[in-house]
Amino acid sequence: MKNKNLLISLIILLVISFTSFIIKYTNDTKNEYQVISKNILFQQSSTLFNNIVTMRQWSSDHGAVYVKSHEGIEPNPYLENNHTYTKDNELLIKINPAWMTRQLSEMSNKAERYYFKITSLDPINPINIPDEFEQKALNDLEKNKEKKFYTNIEKDMYNLLGSLKVEPSCLECHAHQNYKVGDIIGGLRVSVPIDSYVKNMEILQSKTNFLYTITIITAIVFIFIIIFTINSIYSREKSIVKLNNTLEKKVNKRTKELSDANKKLLEISTKDYLTNIANRRYFFEIGLKSLHIAKRENSDLSIVCIDIDFFKNINDTYGHNIGDEILKLIANNMNKYIRKSDILARIGGEEFVILLNNTNEQNAYALAEKIRVHIESLIYKNDKIEIRTSISMGISQLRAKDDDLDSIIIRADKALYEAKNTGRNKSVIFG
Ligand code: GH3
Ligand code: MG
Ligand code: MG
Repeated sequence: MKNKNLLISLIILLVISFTSFIIKYTNDTKNEYQVISKNILFQQSSTLFNNIVTMRQWSSDHGAVYVKSHEGIEPNPYLENNHTYTKDNELLIKINPAWMTRQLSEMSNKAERYYFKITSLDPINPINIPDEFEQKALNDLEKNKEKKFYTNIEKDMYNLLGSLKVEPSCLECHAHQNYKVGDIIGGLRVSVPIDSYVKNMEILQSKTNFLYTITIITAIVFIFIIIFTINSIYSREKSIVKLNNTLEKKVNKRTKELSDANKKLLEISTKDYLTNIANRRYFFEIGLKSLHIAKRENSDLSIVCIDIDFFKNINDTYGHNIGDEILKLIANNMNKYIRKSDILARIGGEEFVILLNNTNEQNAYALAEKIRVHIESLIYKNDKIEIRTSISMGISQLRAKDDDLDSIIIRADKALYEAKNTGRNKSVIFG
């Protein structure tokens, strides 16, 4: 879970960084394009400015030009000696650079869409009084002498104002203002329309906005898809793990049940249900193996057959249940004398058998007697009754010709029969 959140955070961070990079790149491109467009406007305006300055220079270099008087042309009222006459008494009007600029600007302002004007902080001609932009520009250029142009964008125009230096011809009018050649007398303002610039900027802005929107939407969608994918991978993994755990638990439970059932089955198949000692089947299966081992190793093996004396009387007198209790009591007590390697089994109703490995008939007899004496001394007690009982035992040992347990059991049974016939509560060795 911790890993999942970390992974999601990392991817979100990555997407946000990438998106920011694209947005920044787009914005930078837009700004660069804006700067380039402004440079073009500057180029256009400064070229116009230089043309006019060159033209003024030309006029100044020639000490102004004279044109024949005609309709629509007046002498410059602020210029001394603003006209002269030919030999034929024709009126010639003197056009100095300022007058030339004024007239050209009036013409171009009518004919062209661009506009220019000379202006000064200290104008002689009131027409040249600076407007707000020109005032600002002149002040700025005054302060920053090394600066050549002042520009701004206003409404639908790109405005450029450059400083004009005093030419010798300027002093004709401006001498009383104490100007020297080379001083900055004022400025020339050029304004060009910016329709296409504005249109380009609008297109640029809308395209940039479109790009921003697309980028942000893509980033959001991408983040959602990633979160959804990671979540479903993790939840699938989680449910697989959960399923595995459940399956493992089920398998473990079933395995335990199976092993318990097998244990129970083994117990049922090998143990006597009443006394919990070995049953007949188990006795014959394991006993035969013991017989073969004894024969191979040439060792002793004895069998003791046991029968409870007058057991029918107990059943008849006290009932079958009490009989069962006594069967259990005798089996438990006999079991105390049996080694782990030997076998005590119940092979009939009230008949038992003991297989003793590495034991000859004398030693078997000695054990049988111990058991018999112990059983004889046993008293079954409950609230009302006390019952004593005894057992008879027949003993026989393995002989060379014996190939199965039955041969030994038959002899032991014969000895048991003898024990019964000779007074009961005794042990008899066959033969
Ligand atoms: P004997 O001394 O000659 O052996 O006399 P007995 O009465 O013990 O005779 P026998 O061995 O023939 O008796 C077997 C009796 O054991 C008959 C039957 O009622 C009883 N019996 C056999 N199996 C069981 C059992 O599982 N529970 C009980 N309560 N009695 C059993
Ligand atoms: Mg019997
Ligand atoms: Mg009996």
